[in-house]
Amino acid sequence: MTSTTIFDQIIRREIPAEIVYEDDLSLAFKDINPAAPVHLLIIPKQPIATVNDIEEDQRELVGHLFVVARKIAAQHGFANDGYRLVMNCNEDGGQSVYHIHLHLLAGKTLGWPPY
Ligand code: 5GP
Repeated sequence: MTSTTIFDQIIRREIPAEIVYEDDLSLAFKDINPAAPVHLLIIPKQPIATVNDIEEDQRELVGHLFVVARKIAAQHGFANDGYRLVMNCNEDGGQSVYHIHLHLLAGKTLGWPPY
């Protein structure tokens, strides 16, 4: 399943975003409405609407998002203090943009559970 979302526009540089990382497969940028001192979104360039739409042959791509998260955490110096990775799915999961994205939250002690 494909989608056209605001994140596709960010990938195509049609709207601005504070991009912190890019490679052939993925892009990471600052969330416009941060929920923590560090709040980044790591997305595949290939549009996948929700976690429900991830195909078997996309497992490497989805895994890549976690490798990117690990690299960013190391480069930005919060790997040891810790961080949270979240991917929301559909309405009850709190998804609002239908292009999968890994939220990377850091910079404070985060509460749990998240409600
Ligand atoms: P979701 O609710 O789908 O898990 O997360 C979507 C995230 O995208 C939200 O945290 C929201 O603040 C962020 N967001 C929505 N529109 C934009 C935008 O135009 N630019 C950026 N940088 N973030 C956005």
